[in-house]
Amino acid sequence: MSKGGTGVQDPRIRTRLRNRAARANETKRRDIIELMAKRFPPCRCAHCLKDCDTPTSDHVLPRSWYPTTTPENTERWQMPSYEECNQKYGQIESDLRFRLALGTDPAAPQSLGIAQSVHRSLNPSKAKREKDQRARKRQFDKLRDMVIPLSVVQADNILPTFGPVAGTATEDLIPIGIPTAEWEAFGIKLARGSTFVLEGNYIEQDHKVDVLPPMDEGDERAQKIRRAIREHGTCHTLGPGFNVGKGFAFAEKNNASLLTPITLFRFEIWGRVRIYVQILK
Ligand SMILES: [Zn+2]
Repeated sequence: MSKGGTGVQDPRIRTRLRNRAARANETKRRDIIELMAKRFPPCRCAHCLKDCDTPTSDHVLPRSWYPTTTPENTERWQMPSYEECNQKYGQIESDLRFRLALGTDPAAPQSLGIAQSVHRSLNPSKAKREKDQRARKRQFDKLRDMVIPLSVVQADNILPTFGPVAGTATEDLIPIGIPTAEWEAFGIKLARGSTFVLEGNYIEQDHKVDVLPPMDEGDERAQKIRRAIREHGTCHTLGPGFNVGKGFAFAEKNNASLLTPITLFRFEIWGRVRIYVQILK
């Protein structure tokens, strides 16, 4: 009996069997992804609002952002998207996840598996093949480019809840930059996707979508938004890692006599990343 577990001695046969098993696994994996991917009829892309005959499914929160503690039967929201838009956001999200993941708590149920997967992707010694090893090396170089000098970091520029962990020596801190454009693009995507899922509707071109600057939960504005959601809005929990709150408020617009309704969104990811978006119609 060989140690490979197949019980076959001839290495050529063993390789063939292994390849066949890998192919079967790949087919199974694709079937599962296919099952998870929603099929949308011809409709508008939720990102660019253009008509699309064969929309792809874009996950509102990317699949890889859900912690491993997410129950299997949790609905992972999806939105119709042009393949190009889907890919464009995929790149932004992958970059943003990489930057944010290293600041998450690897032991918290809200973010379990997130930091670990990024750590794995950085460790060449965990790679089995040379190609994979090179990819991990590239990933590490990418991380090095993301690090900004500690001297330029100001306290009010640190994302709330990402501040230095108590007891960490200053020389051990590694600040990672979060590009504003990525943060905002991601906030807009979350708002567009959630509007599609919750209302079956689009955020139209003439609506004004603002991703608010990151703020502390104690900030007056953040408290107001939370109150609006609690009192007149809805809350949606998609597993321990993703929370969507939607509420309403009214504002004066161009000194009009009638108040204009504002839609407010509060997205909480990994119990730590909080993105506030307001939409003015
Ligand atoms: Zn599009």
